[in-house]
Amino acid sequence: MKYVIIGAVAGGASTAARLRRLDEHAEIVIFEKGAYISYANCGLPYYIGDVIKDRNALFVQTASAFNQRFNIDVRVRTEVTAIDPVSKTITAVNQKTGETYKETYDRLVLSPGAEPIRPPLPGISNEGIFTLRNVSDTDYIKGFVEQKHVKKAVVIGAGFIGLEMAENLQELGLDVSVIEMGNQILAPLDYPLAAMVQQHIRSKGVHLLLNTAVSAFGKEDNGLKVILNNGDALDADVVIMSIGVRPDTRLAVQAGLKLGEAKGIWVNDFLQTSDPDIYAVGDAIEFTNPITHQSMNTYLAGPANKQGRICANNIVLGNKHKYNGAINTAIVKVFDMTVATAGTASKNLTKAGIKHIVSTTHSGSHAGYFPGARQMSIQIAFTPEDGRLLGAQIAGYDGVDKRIDILSSVIQRGGTIYELTEFEHAYAPPYSSAKDPVNMVGFVAENILQDRLKIFYWDQFEQITKDDLLIDVRTKEEFEEGHISNALNIPLDDLRSRMHEIDQNKKIYTYCRAGLRGYFAQRILKQNGYNSIVNLSGGYLLWEICNREMPPINRPKTQNSLLQVA
Ligand code: FAD
Repeated sequence: MKYVIIGAVAGGASTAARLRRLDEHAEIVIFEKGAYISYANCGLPYYIGDVIKDRNALFVQTASAFNQRFNIDVRVRTEVTAIDPVSKTITAVNQKTGETYKETYDRLVLSPGAEPIRPPLPGISNEGIFTLRNVSDTDYIKGFVEQKHVKKAVVIGAGFIGLEMAENLQELGLDVSVIEMGNQILAPLDYPLAAMVQQHIRSKGVHLLLNTAVSAFGKEDNGLKVILNNGDALDADVVIMSIGVRPDTRLAVQAGLKLGEAKGIWVNDFLQTSDPDIYAVGDAIEFTNPITHQSMNTYLAGPANKQGRICANNIVLGNKHKYNGAINTAIVKVFDMTVATAGTASKNLTKAGIKHIVSTTHSGSHAGYFPGARQMSIQIAFTPEDGRLLGAQIAGYDGVDKRIDILSSVIQRGGTIYELTEFEHAYAPPYSSAKDPVNMVGFVAENILQDRLKIFYWDQFEQITKDDLLIDVRTKEEFEEGHISNALNIPLDDLRSRMHEIDQNKKIYTYCRAGLRGYFAQRILKQNGYNSIVNLSGGYLLWEICNREMPPINRPKTQNSLLQVA
């Protein structure tokens, strides 16, 4: 058997290594058009930022070590330019010698990845404008930043890589601006958590421009001009374009393979393309999202690596190992904050027509009495009928990673919010609380589903009329520091004695700082004959951040699907 693999980084290298473990006697050839194989793409921004100091640390494997360990014929600096599925032959060009030759295969695996989008804007070819995908890009950017002593950077696109680059350049001492065309950063997040991160990066001195696009680049004697669609222009010594990637399907198209609805390479459950002898993995493919059941691409290292293993299993052992899709579990460090997501955001559930309830809670990363506890905010989305968990997003400082992995695991196996209420975690004060943030999320969601808590959202205040009553149940001191206009302050501890001030016939909206005291108020009022009460999910804290980031005048239609006013 002869296996040929195109692309030797995340998906390709893991397919090749697994193929060898399953089939010691096969001939395996892997082609890589770049100079390096199996390197850590995910570490590249941190090497540019000098967090990773040793360039060699980026290389998980070298071509010669891979060859020695796995007996795999590794051909770097060799680009595959064509596939002929009829003769089962590929054409390769050795970039060092210029030699073009053909190679046959019995089974072919495509793992060419995704290519960064570089729009044809005027001036985009000017020196100093980069995209970041591989080690060569990294070397160019790092060399440019160091040799030209650059002072001002403009990062275009506020996705995961854009923000990592903004942080790393800022930490190097550059003055950094981030330009984002959308109305929020980090598109996979819903607005409230994105707003928290926006506030955070602004607090670190990054200039963030939302709802702004670049229309052209100009060249000046001493650098670049980034010309914006609002008529303004920014000076820059270096520009990082990170406006997204698209699946690299060039070879697949040339070979006549089927593409899917999301414009990735179409594969079946066994990662086999429309040609049974050709498999494909990684950023280049698309698959069915297990939550929305729509076709999607994912640009993450975890799925690419795991697909490589499944693909090799299917090639050697026959199509038995199904790929169940990915739920886009991802995490990013944004200065000292950590932001993570798993499953589907509320806005995308709405687009897919999936009914859901959103709930936001704020909890300490560990017991409040133990030093160093920091708050984390968790937003989840779940089905109103049976509480199936569909999505989770977290912004915080400590312990975000373990909570998102727990939530991801529940989402991935189709679990419910009820499971979160009983999730058994390892507890000691430095690590958690006796009720972990994940349990708290479950408790709140359970209260919602069992009608003990009715909620409304930060962007639904326009539904409050003059006949309704908005009650702030925080303390007098908190109220005086800032409150929502037209709110009546009745601190929670005074509620029972001041109940006569609240008209039973009014619709009552409550809020507190985080949501908990508002819930207590709702329980007290409910059991005293008040029937129409809703509490602000995420509390004043979330309302305040969202309003600061997006005043009502700029606000699109509400994104949350269910308003729970009785
Ligand atoms: P790649 O790993 O990109 O490998 C594709 C390879 O194929 C490339 O080396 C390319 O040169 C080669 N190739 C393409 N066409 C040909 C051809 N015709 N002939 C020969 N060779 C060819 N993901 C995370 O989950 N977490 C992170 O923190 C994270 N950070 C990232 C940071 C950066 C800067 C980048 C660029 C990506 C990051 N990713 C991260 C994404 C992750 O790296 C990718 O999802 C993953 O590498 C995809 O694997 P792949 O095998 O599909 O493609």
